[in-house]
Amino acid sequence: MSDPLLLTPGPLTTSATVKQAMLHDWGSRDAAFIAMNRRVRKRLVSLADGEGTHVCVPVQGSGTFAVEAAIGTLVPREGKLLVLVNGAYGRRMVQIARIIGRACTSIETAEDVPVSPEALDGALAADVAISHVAVVQCETTSGLLNPIEAVAAVCARHGRKLLIDAMSAFGALPLEARQTPFDALMASSNKCLEGVPGMGFVIVRKDSLQAAEGNAHSLSLDLFAQWRGFEQNDQWRFTPPTHVIAAFDQALDEHAAEGGVAGRGARYRRNMHILLEGMAAYGFESLLPAALQAPIIVTFRMPADPRFVFDAFYDGLRQRGYVIYPGKLTVADSFRIGCIGRLGEAEMRGAVAAVGEMLNELRVRSGAPHQGEGLVA
Ligand SMILES: *Cc1c(COP(=O)(O)O)cnc(C)c1O
Repeated sequence: MSDPLLLTPGPLTTSATVKQAMLHDWGSRDAAFIAMNRRVRKRLVSLADGEGTHVCVPVQGSGTFAVEAAIGTLVPREGKLLVLVNGAYGRRMVQIARIIGRACTSIETAEDVPVSPEALDGALAADVAISHVAVVQCETTSGLLNPIEAVAAVCARHGRKLLIDAMSAFGALPLEARQTPFDALMASSNKCLEGVPGMGFVIVRKDSLQAAEGNAHSLSLDLFAQWRGFEQNDQWRFTPPTHVIAAFDQALDEHAAEGGVAGRGARYRRNMHILLEGMAAYGFESLLPAALQAPIIVTFRMPADPRFVFDAFYDGLRQRGYVIYPGKLTVADSFRIGCIGRLGEAEMRGAVAAVGEMLNELRVRSGAPHQGEGLVA
């Protein structure tokens, strides 16, 4: 067991049993494999509380493939998308819309500021051409939790459709169709559901999908055609990621055994507290106030001490068995440590101890950032 622990936004550390589930070969028409597809799709719909209204359409590839499939299939060619942006994943949805030729506008807030339901309300009132709104639930760029219930309520009031990039939250933070009305949510196998990478999926309103025939810009990322394939025979149109699905099926068993979304979210929250308290004891400061911090990944400001050299810090942690993640912010010099994946109290305490060893090794007395300076441009 020499694999490092991945304290990153994904791919993540998986359980031994999830890895073991991949030690078989399946034919794509194998009855056991077909039953597995049916089971996985059904469970994902039920995690989103979408039975009767929503269906799950998986797509081969990483999470971005599912986001691109959802935008390309659900936003009609004459439609218009408004993206609420406060980080790299919001910006990515704007880029997707531009590349596939959908009219697109955005409302941008800083990376440490939640998206604004009030600004959305004004934009939807002012522009009747906007057919769809897209938002990221947890912006993994910073670790910030966006107010998606309020966003969903504004969209519902204006009769516009909502697409939620729930990639880094689904399975650990609640997102239920009856509570938070959405047209589609996009997520993947390898984040909070703790499967291995290789499959994205979209949980989408059946009536919206039925109305989306012919919209897609792409053959392989056409959610309508992919769905029709599953409806006909529970098979994938093109080569399925068989081992990924088998691992995901096992990962969903383990998710249920842990107490579903509530149980998984509680473990991640404990992980986050161990991390925040341990890092604070060394003087580190996290970017976000507690009210905005999702229990997924934490952004820490870069220490002021010039002896803190991030690459050396990173390499030393890696040698000790912990992989962290560089910052992705434009507002502040930072790095990130994740609290998701198959990690618990012992692993988080181990990571915090390794940070302490590295501070000693680098002769850094405190992890405190420049005081009073606030964000660096
Ligand atoms: C991980 C992630 C994605 C998808 O990234 P891939 O690298 O394509 O899997 C999309 N949105 C958010 C918020 C994410 O965290």
